Formats: sequence, C-alpha cells, structure tokens
Amino acid sequence: MLVLLNRRGYAPVLHCTSCGWKSECPHCSAFRVFHKSDRSLRCHHCSLTQAVPRACPSCGNQDIGALGHGTEKIEEHLAELLHDQQRPDGSPLRIARIDADSTRGKGELVRQLAQVHDGDVDVLVGTQMVAKGHDFRRVTLVAALNPDGALFSADFRAPERLFALLSQAAGRAGRDADLSATNGCEMWVQTFHPAHPLFECLKHHDVSGFAEQQLSERKQAGLPPFSFQALLRAEARTQEGAQAFLNAARELGQQWLSSQSLAVTVYPAVPMGLQRVANVERAQMLLESHSRPALQQFLSHWQPVLQGLRDQHKSVIRWAIDVDPLVI
Ligand SMILES: [Zn+2]
Ligand SMILES: [Zn+2]
Repeated sequence: MLVLLNRRGYAPVLHCTSCGWKSECPHCSAFRVFHKSDRSLRCHHCSLTQAVPRACPSCGNQDIGALGHGTEKIEEHLAELLHDQQRPDGSPLRIARIDADSTRGKGELVRQLAQVHDGDVDVLVGTQMVAKGHDFRRVTLVAALNPDGALFSADFRAPERLFALLSQAAGRAGRDADLSATNGCEMWVQTFHPAHPLFECLKHHDVSGFAEQQLSERKQAGLPPFSFQALLRAEARTQEGAQAFLNAARELGQQWLSSQSLAVTVYPAVPMGLQRVANVERAQMLLESHSRPALQQFLSHWQPVLQGLRDQHKSVIRWAIDVDPLVI
C-alpha cells in the first residue's frame, strides 16, 4: 500500500490556542514545520531549525497545538490503526516513510527503495518523491491524501502536474501485480471535489480527455500553448526595491514596444507567491505575447536595458528572466 501526501514533517504549523501565535519563520513568509522525530521546528525554505518551544514564545501558554497533517503524522496514525494487523507469517505489519527527511543521509533513498522493492515494507507513506520513476512491485493500493490544493491553484499548470503525479502513482501500483478480480489494484483519492473533471478523467485513464479539457480552458484564457510567456524576477532587500526595479523596467520596455509596434503585454510587478525567503524579498512581472518572435525580439532588446537599469537600483540583489516559466 502506498500513501501519498505532499507535506513532509509532522504538522505544517504549530499554534498557540490562547493567543493565536503560529510558528512563522522570522526570515521567510512561510510557517516553520513541526518535526516530531527530533522535536524541531524547521523552515523548509531557509532551513532555520530550532527546538520546539516548551511554551508559547508570545504569551507563555503551555498548550501549543499542531495544525494539519504531514507524512510523519500519517505514518504514526497508520501504525496505531494497523497495530493488530499481521503479515501472512504472523509478524507485525511494516510501515515505512520516504520523504526528503527520511532520505537525508547519503545512499538512504536507494537503501529505502530497495527495502520496498524487496517486499520488506507493507505500507509506505511518502511525498511525491516516491511516485516518480520508481517501480514498486506488490503495490495493490495507492491512496492520495487531500491533493485538492492543485485543483484551484493560481498556477495554471498545477492540475496538469497533479494529473501526471496521480497517473504515475496509479501506474506504480499493480505493474507486476496480478490484476485478476480477486487481486486487483486500486487507487483512492481523498477530495472535497469528487466530481471534478480531473478525477473523472483519472478514473477512466482518460489522458486525452484530460488534455482536451485543459487545452480548451487555456484557449479561453489565452494561456500557453496559445500564448507565450516570460517572467522577469527580482530579489532585493525590500519588496519596494524589487518592485521599483521591475516597474522601471516595465516603463522602459513599454516605451520601446510602442515605438516598434510589437504586441507584447508587460503586466505590473507583483510579489511572488512565496514573497520572502531568508530575508530576501522577491517580486516578479509577467510578459505575454501571441507571437514568440515578438517576445524574443523584445527580450533581446530588453536584457541590456535591464543590466544598465540595475546599477540605478542598488537594493536589487539579482534578477533573471525565465522564458516559458513552468511555475508562475
Ligand atoms: Zn500564546
Ligand atoms: Zn525560513
């Protein structure tokens, strides 16, 4: 059995029931994750790791609770739920976890995967790491826990990635298993949106149906592959600094575009989804065109302009252009 959950750690957030304190990272716009195995709070973006406080750092309340579920917690729950289940030889069921934490040591991932391949593990809990590229014999049930976030993500490619992940995970299961009626392989998906077209297509192994539906949505919205995109990203000590650089670049770009009558849209600068990492502020700006040559012509003009502009924006640490960005 393979249980997929894309959150490592025990719980994504610790919080104080009295004053509402949450385990935010002081250096990033993200929460630090509670890892029960070594009772640490870890930021998965800047790696800041601290011992879990005994009491709320803000009000001193001793009742700090964990919010949400991570792979460690699911592993612990399954061990409790299945403690009276046995393997055919009478020994207890073996439950293992594979994620970026369990495989930190050199060679650990290979060693743990070998155990799974050898049939030494009955229930495997893991992040998407396990669904990619590994061939698990004897897997007869794949359970995906709450993947709904990808259905309504601001990133238009998220449903495509989720579909690929789940199809791949379903493909893992039963590759070698006997698919007779008595020994079939199943996939379970936990969702609040069971009628969503993505799950309908998954149910029927309908890859082309899913592709068609995604393409028609993207066509309506004028998204790739019906348009071409690029992102200009900037990192600076302050969000204002990053955005000032981007917006100045936009103004120079728009002036040139109108003189050339090139159809490229340059959207205003916005903070990135994960706005601050390790005390660096991040912002981005989207460029879009229905013509790839027009976009490319613009970018080759723009790049030297940006290099010059950067000298006037001292707070900018770095900038980069990402053509055909995979994550927006
Ligand atoms: Zn508190
Ligand atoms: Zn951090």
